[in-house]
Amino acid sequence: RRRREALDKLIDLKELGQNSGSIRVFCRVRPLVQTNNVKTKSPVTVEQEKIAVKSVGIKKEFSVDRVFDQESTQEDVFQEVKPILRSALDGHNVCILAYGQTGTGKTYTMEGTDGKLGIVPRAIQELFSHASEDSSSTYSFSISMLEVYLGSLRDLLAPRQPLFRPTECSTACNLSILATKNGAVEVEGLTDVSITELKKANQWYCRGRRARSTSWTNVNDVSSRSHCLTRITIRRHGATEEVSKLWLIDLGGSERLLKTGASGLTMDEGKAINLSLSALGDVIAALRRKRSHVPYRNSKLTQILSDSLGDGSKVLMVVHISPSEDDVGETVCSLSFAKRARSIESNRDIPEDLKMLKQKRITELDKEVCDADEEL
Ligand code: ADP
Ligand code: MG
Repeated sequence: RRRREALDKLIDLKELGQNSGSIRVFCRVRPLVQTNNVKTKSPVTVEQEKIAVKSVGIKKEFSVDRVFDQESTQEDVFQEVKPILRSALDGHNVCILAYGQTGTGKTYTMEGTDGKLGIVPRAIQELFSHASEDSSSTYSFSISMLEVYLGSLRDLLAPRQPLFRPTECSTACNLSILATKNGAVEVEGLTDVSITELKKANQWYCRGRRARSTSWTNVNDVSSRSHCLTRITIRRHGATEEVSKLWLIDLGGSERLLKTGASGLTMDEGKAINLSLSALGDVIAALRRKRSHVPYRNSKLTQILSDSLGDGSKVLMVVHISPSEDDVGETVCSLSFAKRARSIESNRDIPEDLKMLKQKRITELDKEVCDADEEL
């Protein structure tokens, strides 16, 4: 037991200053699609916390907090998401983001399909069932949904959804972002519907999804070139009222522009998505490194989330990849994004004297473990 105690302390100490904290990264591998080149071996192999990518001229390994392989179910994923929902109910702001190249299953993971529900409907259900079981507090919930497209914001639950052409969007749907005095962020005029029962909540969620896909004219699949954000506001009533936000986000496709040969509007859309995704990456990297300046202002997406990514918040990024050889380049890019989001404080940033103390204590504990080993 002494050995185990010393070892536990040793592990804690080694992790000290590496703030592995509140950003978790999962990776989900989409099943191979029939039309993919099935003859070649998949360049992607996975373990529980590791992904290896091997192809001509590429040999890389990435670590994440959890890998979901091609056989993983919606339930498998949700089991790992549940603890973070608890944090939201306990008053923390929470962000769950689906990242990845178009077609790798972001929408599948977040929304799911009939009978194979994704994270959002399951989360809503979980909130209601927790609320009914918790006798010590009462909760109330509300839902908002918005789409970020070409740098403008569109309210997906607004009473009337006019038809849009992408070129009209910047004028027809531009809500502004307000910072309130207590550091919270609000989108001005965004519809926020109080939801008192599960059935109604699901109806509103469906309505928002429909608004996302049907209100565009003359364009195909705007959804891959926009971000879709669902926000559940949780109010816990007790001696004091606690308010927290649960953000469930289906990000735009992370693919690079050159490959798709984009031009004109598609090019602008792609640029806007790439810009906001790299802004998101920059913000997470700055938070991970405990930088004093966090560049929230570089995109609408990061501005909206600026009170829900930093201190006291919990962030979960689910990076989606394809198992196909055809996508190996994008797969490496997505995993590199994940790596950057996860990368931890290097030893270099710890002051010299602390480093010495830490090293001394590590040596002591090492010796304790060895001694215990010998006794055994
Ligand atoms: P994205 O939103 O990233 O563009 P989608 O979620 O639309 O990708 O997924 C593309 C297609 O693949 C959809 O038909 C979806 O149902 C299917 N799909 C994606 N991931 C899975 C999975 N893990 N299991 C089964 N089908 C999946
Ligand atoms: Mg999608």
